[in-house]
Amino acid sequence: MTTTPLRPTTTLDLDGVLRAAEVVGRVLPPTPSWSYPVLDRRVGGRVVVKHENVQPTGAFKVRGGVNLAASLTPDELRRGLVTASTGNHAQSTAYAARLAGTRAVVVMPESAPAVKREAVAALGAEVVVHGPDLGEAAAHARALAAREGLRWVSPGDDPAIVLGHATLHLELFTAHPDLEVLFVPIGSGTSAAGACLVRDALAPHCRVVGVQSSAARAAHDSWRSGTLASAPCRTRIAGLATCAGYALPQSVLAAGLDDFLLVDDDDVDAAARVLATDAHTLAEGAGAASLAALLSLPAAPAVSGVVVSGGNASLEELVALGSGLAR
Ligand SMILES: *Cc1c(COP(=O)(O)O)cnc(C)c1O
Repeated sequence: MTTTPLRPTTTLDLDGVLRAAEVVGRVLPPTPSWSYPVLDRRVGGRVVVKHENVQPTGAFKVRGGVNLAASLTPDELRRGLVTASTGNHAQSTAYAARLAGTRAVVVMPESAPAVKREAVAALGAEVVVHGPDLGEAAAHARALAAREGLRWVSPGDDPAIVLGHATLHLELFTAHPDLEVLFVPIGSGTSAAGACLVRDALAPHCRVVGVQSSAARAAHDSWRSGTLASAPCRTRIAGLATCAGYALPQSVLAAGLDDFLLVDDDDVDAAARVLATDAHTLAEGAGAASLAALLSLPAAPAVSGVVVSGGNASLEELVALGSGLAR
């Protein structure tokens, strides 16, 4: 056993992922991946469901937070962290700060539901409510970073976060090297970038397919055009609602991603119902997008992986899921 604290590397390769896995594994046990015969029969092929909905914050983003916490310099630890988010990135940053013993300031727009604010505050972060939307909240967070010397935590352009998220795919490909296609939901693209890094090393035959909502297609348009594109984000699926491409993940996805599918929000809701019935799993919308993409194909691959990236559905979303069942 080494006694030196492990400082993760920021190089985006398998070695970086393996180091991140050591860091993340000290705090978070691997999450399960199961197949469900009823789901397999419905899809017409075997489906491996990777359960990130069971993470302590309800989503895979805690992996990036844990790896980020270990990568902070003494100076950054003294100063503290700041970010802007309404959802899982906010909880991940708060979790990271608590783990590292530093402060976190999370700026949330006025539109952020009270339950999300409470979840972030319960992790010990200082919640600052500012502005009508995430754009204004992010601008305020940047201003706080400059004024108070806090370390800005980007939801997409941070190598420690990409490598932390890649550990989910390391677990998945290690347990299931036979996957033919892996469907990954994309907001900023950090998780899908991590999937490409691991796939290249462990399962080069597997295709990695990104999934975004047709009502928020900035990452998709960026990948298709090879530029950092902006697009309206009108999706009700919070985890996929990015309005512009992120440079770091897009630089990996450019060569790594095999395809990028768009799904409609209603199809994502339908897939969430399938997960509830066939896999007794409560997914938030972003967590059901992978399955929605698989279900949209004319024919299923023999073995596919779907990432249930999170389960932070609000009570309103759960009620909507149930009322859809009655339709
Ligand atoms: C953030 C998030 C995504 C998108 O992940 P990126 O790495 O930003 O592409 C998907 N699902 C959930 C639940 C998320 O929180």
